[in-house]
Amino acid sequence: MENSSENNLSYMKCKVCGEVIEGMVAPEICVVCGSGAEAFEKYTPHEEHIILNNIELEVVIIGAGIAAVSAAKAIRERNKLAKIDLYTNESEYPYNRPLLTKGLGRDITKMKYFVEDKDFYIENEINIHFNCLVNEINPDEKNVVISQNSDSNNPNIIVDNRNTEVVSYDKLLIATGAEAFVPPFQGCQLPEVCVLRRKIDLDHLYSVLQSGANDSKNVVIIGGGLLGLETASALDRMGHSVTVIEACPSILPRQLDADGAPILLASIAENSNVTVKYGVFVEKILGEECVEAVQTKDGEIIDCNCVLISAGNTANNQLAKDANLLTSRAINVNKYMQTSNDDIYAAGDCAVYEERIDGIWETAKDQGEVAGANIAGEKTVYNSKPFGATFRAFKTSLFSIGEINVEKCDKNSVYSFVEEKNEPRKIYNKFVFKNGLLVGGVLLGSVAKTKELIVGVTNKVNEEEAKKLNLI
Ligand SMILES: Cc1cc2nc3c(=O)[nH]c(=O)nc-3n(C[C@H](O)[C@H](O)[C@H](O)COP(=O)(O)OP(=O)(O)OC[C@H]3O[C@@H](n4cnc5c(N)ncnc54)[C@H](O)[C@@H]3O)c2cc1C
Repeated sequence: MENSSENNLSYMKCKVCGEVIEGMVAPEICVVCGSGAEAFEKYTPHEEHIILNNIELEVVIIGAGIAAVSAAKAIRERNKLAKIDLYTNESEYPYNRPLLTKGLGRDITKMKYFVEDKDFYIENEINIHFNCLVNEINPDEKNVVISQNSDSNNPNIIVDNRNTEVVSYDKLLIATGAEAFVPPFQGCQLPEVCVLRRKIDLDHLYSVLQSGANDSKNVVIIGGGLLGLETASALDRMGHSVTVIEACPSILPRQLDADGAPILLASIAENSNVTVKYGVFVEKILGEECVEAVQTKDGEIIDCNCVLISAGNTANNQLAKDANLLTSRAINVNKYMQTSNDDIYAAGDCAVYEERIDGIWETAKDQGEVAGANIAGEKTVYNSKPFGATFRAFKTSLFSIGEINVEKCDKNSVYSFVEEKNEPRKIYNKFVFKNGLLVGGVLLGSVAKTKELIVGVTNKVNEEEAKKLNLI
């Protein structure tokens, strides 16, 4: 692994989510946040002075998502002798998970689907073991128990327990990510009920959409958050009839406030046939052998032949719990990404640091890098960034960062905000100041000031400085 100055490579960076790609041509869409080509700018990675620590070390990594890959890279950059083994219950090389929604209805093979190509793992001697479910961690013996999975349709089911292997480690990283949360509705087990977390889920969704004589399906999406709405937009473009049901009193409850939500709803109404119902609770999914309808708590029956549940995620922390590591909503880690056991680290969607689980790509990548550096013997500290989210669908775009709902904020602080609203142009901007310092903002309709907003919130600028940044 060389740096850019050694190999003269060119890079571009997405101003919105920080994703870095090789080459001089901006992609049509960012594989992580979905921003367009205009979000990319030239980028020169800063030169890191990495200290080599070539010692014999056996590292086991559970999972092969972005946290796992970033950790493996960071370890190999520092230690050429370490044995690095990743065990994943999926059957593919690590891929850009956000493409499961951003690539829906598009040819993802024409996008940068894989995080790294196969040669990268071979050249760097990073061993990936596919279809392997880790089902036990034994911290005292410093080993993990792994089962070879023979049911490729469900990575969490072990069909054949005879293929169990015990693998020892010096250092262990848990990078097991999260699962899609499925509320226990009656009817959830029906075959046309889908989620979107893994590539096999996308394949399942496509098989449901393509089944039967009718090309167009009636799809109910349960959950009006970022992923639910992104999926709704894609399915609408593909010609399906879509209804989104959101239990909160408005859509995108974490990213938009009560003034912004109607503007987004207007864009959805103008640019699609998607029906959005908010403040509505689902009672059950109806159907004997296949999905026939969704019934709401107030008795409405919405006919459909496909249901997509997009109701958030649950961290995969059971392995850690069973191994008596400290867990809460996820696996508790300190600033070094270390769990309550010094030789076991956790990073990404399965980890909680200072009570935060961001559930976003860049956080998983950063935490994986920090865990990897520390596994290799460094003392690198993880610095969390303000939480930002992007959305690009229904011919509009949104960027939202930090604290935005003043009503829900800390009651002991003084909040003020600057709001700009242009309803005919469907533009809404809001900048939130806490005790005079910028702590959050929303850009809806035009996200051109995203970089400035990130800088402003990261540096907690005051109103004067926000003006100089051209934000307000
Ligand atoms: C559809 C979708 C769209 C998204 N869009 C965005 C976006 O636009 N922007 C953004 O920033 N983030 C987005 N995210 C979130 C982002 O993808 C995640 O934050 C990120 O993938 C987390 O990485 P991770 O490595 O922690 O976990 P994961 O990517 O979940 O990887 C964990 C891996 O571990 C495997 N695993 C789990 N348990 C075991 C076990 N016991 N044994 C073996 N393997 C195991 C899992 O199967 C999985 O392959 C999106 C996520 C999804 C699902």
